[in-house]
Amino acid sequence: MIRCAKCDNDTRTTTLVTAMGDVMVAGTIATDPQPISAQVCSACGYIELYAPQPFEQPEKSATQAATIEELEAMPAPGTLVA
Ligand SMILES: [Zn+2]
Repeated sequence: MIRCAKCDNDTRTTTLVTAMGDVMVAGTIATDPQPISAQVCSACGYIELYAPQPFEQPEKSATQAATIEELEAMPAPGTLVA
């Protein structure tokens, strides 16, 4: 559990979301943009932002490129799905 830097309370993991989808950061563990994760303090509202880390995504333990199936299942933001 990550603790709040301001009040030392517990934080919750969430993501930043807009009407267009997740807020992304590019050029960290992969070349493609990845969603930013946020640790939000439930007591004071303080938010810390984190770029994607491999250990936070156990379902993608490897850093290799996504499979064709995964790419087809996750269209890029702004892409219109026919
Ligand atoms: Zn706090």
